[in-house]
Amino acid sequence: MPDSGTSQETLSLAETLKQRARDLGFDLVGIAPAVTPAGLPRLEDWIDAGRAGEMKYIPNRREAYTHPEYVLSEARSVIMLAMNYRTEEPLETKSVEMRISRYAWGAGDYHDLLRERLKQVAGLLHEIAPGCRTRCIVDTAPLLERDFARLAGLGWFGKNTMLLNKQIGSWFFLGAILTDVQLPPDAPHETAHCGTCTRCLDVCPTDAFPEAGVLDARRCISYLTIELRDRPIPLDLRTGMQNWGFGCDLCQDVCPWNSKAPISTEASFAPQSEMNPANATELLGLSEEQFRERFKKTPLARPGRAGILRNAAIVLGNSGDRSYLSSLYAAIHDEHPLVRGAAVWAISQLGSIDDREQLQSLQQVENNAEVLSEIQFAIDHLTQKAAPDADAD
Ligand code: SF4
Ligand code: SF4
Repeated sequence: MPDSGTSQETLSLAETLKQRARDLGFDLVGIAPAVTPAGLPRLEDWIDAGRAGEMKYIPNRREAYTHPEYVLSEARSVIMLAMNYRTEEPLETKSVEMRISRYAWGAGDYHDLLRERLKQVAGLLHEIAPGCRTRCIVDTAPLLERDFARLAGLGWFGKNTMLLNKQIGSWFFLGAILTDVQLPPDAPHETAHCGTCTRCLDVCPTDAFPEAGVLDARRCISYLTIELRDRPIPLDLRTGMQNWGFGCDLCQDVCPWNSKAPISTEASFAPQSEMNPANATELLGLSEEQFRERFKKTPLARPGRAGILRNAAIVLGNSGDRSYLSSLYAAIHDEHPLVRGAAVWAISQLGSIDDREQLQSLQQVENNAEVLSEIQFAIDHLTQKAAPDADAD
């Protein structure tokens, strides 16, 4: 570890780094010691309860979360930085809306932008403390970023599990720089300011909060639409998705602390017209090549074409508008079984008993077991929907 010098020197080094971070557009910056995070038992309970769902990369790196030294050997300090991404709401909305989480409205992938800025802050540290070691992190390393952000004084945990700051709410990206330089830590944020408010818990359409401050990712629309790849969305959660096709912002939208959050001036966060909202029927018609061309450098690439089209079909199924049936009938011939299955489900939501015959014909040609089970469910659902009329006859 490089010599950290006198305390006056380290104080001034810390202030120089923070000023560079602010000049680079970070709204919050603080320093935490590289220690075992206080939230580790909470993470372990969460993993043991199976709440990580299919995000196997979390339990698989369980040990690494216990200390930042697993991410950077001999780490002594964690510089935590936050960048506000709140932008103006879109002025125009299209008729076929598929809502996309706010963090993905901008151009490109925020990971690239943040990593580049973090590298510039780290570069300054290398200039001042030659021979030091650093590692810049945006999301991908096994680090409890929110825990370290709280420890660095950036905010408190809201009941929706997001980190909240009185000035900028929770619409911000977090980045971290781990270093073996011993920097003076900031005071942790010890207080919480949710009070008796429960808006975030009450608004969640899929009941993803078993209790305040605990998120069951398996029920969260963000997990279902982004992280649950290559699998159908559980039947009992599809209606709750409403028109969310990539992430969900409801528990942040209702937070009173976010109503006061400033608007970001970062040009690359400005909403792109086709990203907010997206046209679900248009998405449902994209080929693999068209999808890649349009979304390759955006967060929507993560769930991939099959995931996004699956989500778009469910959004149409939740629309209550039968005029989308023709798009859904086209999608039942999609190359990917996930898309076919979701389209069949959506037809069962919008359709009537007249659609049953077409689904029965589809049963004769479909050979994927999961899609066949979706078709059977859809036929049963349409039959049930028609039952009151049959009784009346
Ligand atoms: Fe619920 Fe949406 Fe918040 Fe997930 S993001 S916990 S689904 S309100
Ligand atoms: Fe806290 Fe209310 Fe915001 Fe939830 S909505 S995080 S309870 S202030």
